[in-house]
Amino acid sequence: MLDRYGVTTGNLENQNLAVSAELPEALSEQSDLDEKRRREQQKLYTMVQYAKATNCRRAFIHEYFGLRHGGRCGACDCCQI
Ligand SMILES: [Zn+2]
Repeated sequence: MLDRYGVTTGNLENQNLAVSAELPEALSEQSDLDEKRRREQQKLYTMVQYAKATNCRRAFIHEYFGLRHGGRCGACDCCQI
């Protein structure tokens, strides 16, 4: 991401990657950072819900990605209990 903003020099392969310029405003705006934090917290919450799921995990993943699922898969750990 930093490379995309042109604020780095060097590269990982040569082990000389360094930040060479100020971070762009887009990466330091508080409102953008707050929104990013909110999205990351939502993803973490969804991960916790997945870990605590008692219904079919495959159905959970399908629902997360907005796909239809025909009930329980019969193969995941939740379905096998
Ligand atoms: Zn299942």
